[in-house]
Amino acid sequence: MADEERLVKTLMELIKIDSPSGEEDAMDAEVSSRLESLGLKVSHDAYKNVIAKLDGEGEPIMLSAHLDTVEPGRGIKPVIDGGVLRSDGTTILGGDCKAGVAIVLEGLESALATNRANRAIEVIFTRHEEGGLVGAHNLDFSMVAAKKGIVFDGEGPPNRIILSAPSQNVVTAYITGRAAHAGLEPEKGISALLIASDILSRLPLGRIDEETTANIGRMEGGLKRNIIPEQAFLDGEFRSLSNEKLADMERKFQGVFDEVASMYPEASINLDITNSYQAYNIDPKSSAVAIIGKALAGMGLEMILESTGGGSDANVFIEKGITAIPVGIGVRDFHTTWETALIAEVMLGVQMCEGIVLGK
Ligand SMILES: [Zn+2]
Repeated sequence: MADEERLVKTLMELIKIDSPSGEEDAMDAEVSSRLESLGLKVSHDAYKNVIAKLDGEGEPIMLSAHLDTVEPGRGIKPVIDGGVLRSDGTTILGGDCKAGVAIVLEGLESALATNRANRAIEVIFTRHEEGGLVGAHNLDFSMVAAKKGIVFDGEGPPNRIILSAPSQNVVTAYITGRAAHAGLEPEKGISALLIASDILSRLPLGRIDEETTANIGRMEGGLKRNIIPEQAFLDGEFRSLSNEKLADMERKFQGVFDEVASMYPEASINLDITNSYQAYNIDPKSSAVAIIGKALAGMGLEMILESTGGGSDANVFIEKGITAIPVGIGVRDFHTTWETALIAEVMLGVQMCEGIVLGK
């Protein structure tokens, strides 16, 4: 039986372990020792992603979450207020993805405590998911046998099943103009910031259509008030659920950069557009969805099938041939200082995970 008191204790303990992306060692040590004491065989790949296996019946099912958090995520002080867990307001909560990790640990513990036969399980806890799915891209898939699984990393309740997600392309541009003294000889200068803003004002940005978005999230440049800025930098992205629309956006972005470059023949613009993950679309009738549906039905819950605008490790797993389905983890407002975890919903996640492990 899932135990709410124990879940809250586990979740609070995990949240208090600092694990910003790239600094997951302490979280790794904690979850590895917990998995070992539950009887799983824990190993790591070369990138130090956690891969833990539990013997059982049938083909193995992957249960996955990530160990890292975004910033500000150091010294988090979780507080409980009427069944809702939040930070003190100075940091994120880190419910993304500590609630996912806690659901997997507590779900396994509850399932194993029943002494009933369990499915074969592979737990994958990745590093550095935030800002590029780096751990998943580096995961040693030769160590993973599962062909289907659940990624505990979605916003909302655990019966929110995310069946499609967009591709994302990352856009970076380094612009070099020419420096000159702004008061003595401005005509000799070429402002890289002006070029950057010409680009920015021409790019298609925001919500392009119901499947496509684009953003330039950072523009930097210049050195001092009295120098024509020689360097500027743009950092952005565009996403689409449709790969054709993604390709169309790439052509449009390229076109704008070419157009502005032709206006400033003496400047140089170094543009890079790179795909960071591929879109996916899971068939609602797939057996991986049925596994989740069965566990939820046992709890009297129905699946809410949805699409997301964000990426997760599932994008990479699916590209590698594993039907990995992101589900909600009872957390809202990811990546903000007002992020919350609803204890009752995280508990539903634990019960769902227990049901999956027991094949109920
Ligand atoms: Zn996450």
